Order: sequence, then structure tokens, then C-alpha cells
Amino acid sequence: MRILLIEDDKIVADALVEALQRNGYTVDHLTAAEPGEKLIHITHYDLAIVDIGLPGMDGCELIKRWRQSGSAMPIILLTARNGLHDRITGLDLGADDYVVKPFKIPELLARMRALIRRCGSGTSSELLAGKIRIDLARRVAEVNDQPLDLTGREWEILQQLALASPKPLSKQVMVESLSDWDNELSDNAVEIYVSRLRHKLHNCGVKIRTIRGFGYRLDE
Ligand code: CA
Repeated sequence: MRILLIEDDKIVADALVEALQRNGYTVDHLTAAEPGEKLIHITHYDLAIVDIGLPGMDGCELIKRWRQSGSAMPIILLTARNGLHDRITGLDLGADDYVVKPFKIPELLARMRALIRRCGSGTSSELLAGKIRIDLARRVAEVNDQPLDLTGREWEILQQLALASPKPLSKQVMVESLSDWDNELSDNAVEIYVSRLRHKLHNCGVKIRTIRGFGYRLDE
């Protein structure tokens, strides 16, 4: 999953980038709102974390512009403890959730998972696909209580396909979700990961079907 973080406080941003990467997310970090406005229409992000107090355009204005331009990307606000008015404004303008600084990373991660789930079709932190139990919180996929041996990228692809199911997932979204600014993935690489994952899911009661000209779908 690819996250857009907009936060001007270096200490908070560094800690967040490190924690998000450690938890398997790819992160692009901006220190101001302006470059983010058009960016989300060029690159697919699964979620944005936006600080309200930014130099220049503030986080609320950015969220307003994103929603006006038709984006439904999940957004979590970062707000100051005394920022009740900002939080209300941010939520009214289209943010989905917020955390109050100083926050604990596990709480932010849980809110991110909840939001990503709500935007997919799942309602709990566990998804079932065929014989596979996918635990989003622990980041494991199990068959008959035995964990599948998946690489980080294979896990990401399985998780995204399961969250999107029964809808297909576009290859473009998969490529962008797995890339970041320092590490741009190719269509070819995604095809290789999907093919390895298919091999590992043999006998798990699911199939990754190719939707020609679009992407992939997880079928039971
Ligand atoms: Ca700030």
C-alpha cells in the first residue's frame, strides 16, 4: 500500500516514515500542501495522512480541493491537541478520520487499517479468500493455521486483491501501490510477482484471474 504523508515537522515525519515502512507501507513524504494537490491525480495512493498546520496552504484547504476534484482517497488528519475547530472543519471538508498529536504509532496504524478496510469490502481485520485467512493486523496469510511463505510484495498483492474482491484491481494501481519515488516498479515486475504468488496459492481454493487490458481479480 502506498501512503502520501504531508507533514512539515521533521521529527514527526521522520518517525512516521520509518514506522510506516517498517509496517510494510511505501511512503512518499511532502513538507507542504501545494505539490500534493495535483499529485494524487497522477499517482495512486491508498491513503493520505495530512497535517493541518502547514506552511502556505493548510491541510484543510488541501482536503477541500481534493474532494472538489472528485478524489475519494481515504484521508487521516494530524491535528494539534487544542485543534478542535480544525478537526471539525477538516472532517466537514472530507477527511475520514484524525489523530491528535502527540499520538501513538500503533493507534495511527490501527486507524489506517480500519479506514483501508472500510474503503474495501472487508469489515474486520481478517479477510477470507478460499481456504486462506488473511490477517491484516498481523500481516500474515494462513491456510489451515499454517502461514503461507510470502515475500513482502507477494503479501501486498494478495492483501490488495482480497480487499478489492470481488472487484478487479487495475495493474496500474498495483504498480503505483508497490512503488515509491526512489523505487519505480515496472508492469513486468508486477507480472512476475503475480505469477510467483499464483504458484504459491495453488491448492488454496482461489485463483488470480487476469482481466485482459485491466489487471487482476481474486476468484474463489
Ligand atoms: Ca505542522
